[in-house]
Amino acid sequence: MSNLSIRAGGEPDQAFMNIEPTTQTAAALPFTLIDSHCHLHAEEYQGVVPQILANAAQAGVRQIVTLGTDCTSSAAAVALAAAYRPVFACVGVHPEEAAGFDEGVLACIAELARKEKVVAIGEIGLDYVCSGITAAEQQRVFSRQLALAKELNLPVVIHDRNAHGDIAACIRKAGHLPRGGVMHCFSGDLRLAQEMAERGFMIAFSGVLTFKNAALLREVARALDLSHLMLETDSPYLTPVPYRGKRNEPARLVHTARMLADLKGLPLAEVARRTTANTCKIFHLPEAALS
Ligand SMILES: [Zn+2]
Repeated sequence: MSNLSIRAGGEPDQAFMNIEPTTQTAAALPFTLIDSHCHLHAEEYQGVVPQILANAAQAGVRQIVTLGTDCTSSAAAVALAAAYRPVFACVGVHPEEAAGFDEGVLACIAELARKEKVVAIGEIGLDYVCSGITAAEQQRVFSRQLALAKELNLPVVIHDRNAHGDIAACIRKAGHLPRGGVMHCFSGDLRLAQEMAERGFMIAFSGVLTFKNAALLREVARALDLSHLMLETDSPYLTPVPYRGKRNEPARLVHTARMLADLKGLPLAEVARRTTANTCKIFHLPEAALS
């Protein structure tokens, strides 16, 4: 979250402007994917965003949703969406960044959320492993942002790490969220997935689905109806098999898509088409741009 390629409030670097990833190879691919969750502002991508987008297009990933985790990186996400046609942004405060969350931070997120190409409030949620902030404080920050999403009529993108019960409790307490949301990098059980699906949420799977030790998660993916499922990389994190240990990027989404297709016993093109449609539906992305 340091060394941002594009700084809050500043003009995007000229070198990053007007890049149209080559679609030559992508046009020949029999599928189109959307990376519904990544962090293009990450230090790992500094100076190479155009290359990352070109790689993605060549691998059939035609749209990318990039998420902020605090005010600064949310502003960077908005700037990236403004600079690159295939990129859309989410703005929010991650539970690991929740220290010092006050009315000023909330106002910053609210202002960014009204910018063009902002498609959701996220990522927000609870992290009972990595966050040094108390559960009660995380729940306060999470609930304020759920209320903001409701007020702005936007969906939410939820980070849930070892906090399944409290995530569900906060969402129940927030009442009806008209635009629903996404359970990002889902790690819960089938019951949680089904409850969230009933509340209008999509269940998104990352590269973790390909990990050797993820048998239970694969069972959840197998059991859920494809109408509730989405795909994501969470890059630069969570590189799928067979590239574990290497830097992740949106172009690697196809490996997770292929795993889901295998679990469903469906052709890759069908899984790509359905998950892409689900992503367009929840985020109101322009489907026409994909054809
Ligand atoms: Zn993330």
